Amino acid sequence: MRVVSTNGDDLGWGMYDAQSPIAVRIWAHHQDAPNAGREIEPRAAERLMGASIERAARTRDGLFPSEQTSAYRLCNGEGDRVPGLVVDRYGDVAVLRTDGEAMATWRDRLVPLIVKALEPRGVRTLLARVQKEGDLKSERVWGAPSEDVLDIHENGMVMEVDLARGQKTGAFLDQRDNRARVRRLARDRKRVLNLFSYAGGFSIAAALGSPGSRVTSVDSASRGHANAQRAFRKNGLDPSAHSFVTADAFVFLEQARKRTERYDLIVCDPPSFAPNERSKRNAISSYAKLHRACAALLEPDGIFCASSCSSHITLEEFLATLDDGTLERHDLCVREALGPPADHPTLASFPEGRYLKFIVLS
Ligand code: SAH
Repeated sequence: MRVVSTNGDDLGWGMYDAQSPIAVRIWAHHQDAPNAGREIEPRAAERLMGASIERAARTRDGLFPSEQTSAYRLCNGEGDRVPGLVVDRYGDVAVLRTDGEAMATWRDRLVPLIVKALEPRGVRTLLARVQKEGDLKSERVWGAPSEDVLDIHENGMVMEVDLARGQKTGAFLDQRDNRARVRRLARDRKRVLNLFSYAGGFSIAAALGSPGSRVTSVDSASRGHANAQRAFRKNGLDPSAHSFVTADAFVFLEQARKRTERYDLIVCDPPSFAPNERSKRNAISSYAKLHRACAALLEPDGIFCASSCSSHITLEEFLATLDDGTLERHDLCVREALGPPADHPTLASFPEGRYLKFIVLS
């Protein structure tokens, strides 16, 4: 629909969604879609959307030149000026996800536009993530059939991605640089704990970074551990030298404290505790509780990596759950405050897009 300012100026063209907290997603500004006051033709809308998708894909050309990294985000929604559209690449398979009802109704028209941008770049299959009976499922919308579970490369490390049943579009690609960081931080750290380990990305990174270490991966879902154990082997790591615990992380931490376990490196990357503004207070107290329990298991010279993917929690609010009072210790300093990698761009004016925080304390 056309978007006009309160004094009638033509602002451009966007997608209106009565159900979404984002009322209008602007796809084209006035200078790209002139003709003040007139509704835009569907064909013209498709041209504008196709150009934005192509531009987003083009900015990834050359970002991952080697075979070392085969999975990355091609379209990052509002942060890439393709609002409501996410496309992740896993080798020659791409997975699309739309946000909100309005974008979902455009899906069939978006598919050829995405294919046009990605086929010349070597993508052979396009899947769409859809919510079915409460679960996220993938359906093929274009191209050759693909395996449900794929191996991808990330900075030379192998990870298993479950495209059929995994979370998000299959993997958490936004943590790529932070996994690489953990691989370096793990050096000479013998006992590593990775909480909310999912398919074991941080665990593999730590195990590769510290030969001879024992990495304990904790997740409430056992499915991720199966992916992780297979991926350990594919990286030349023996999973039996490590532990995979299916448990609630809070319960695990409490029991580990009673057993007086200690760790040299702890990575804590939970799911979003604050899906909306209303849950913010509870989320902050959950982070604080979690961080205090982690700090209780950390050796005096240990490293603690605490992450949050909640867009409703700001960096300052998150740091407040890592202060001395909360952690009940006075020896940890914030060494680094990291975020998402270059294939997850954000807009200066869209702070919600900067949801990922990754804090390194030691
Ligand atoms: N760190 C992962 C992503 C974490 S996704 C990565 O880099 O790939 C969040 C994970 O937390 C999911 O695997 C989910 O099963 C798990 N989870 C959710 N609630 C949990 C809880 N209370 N205790 C342990 N694991 C939990």
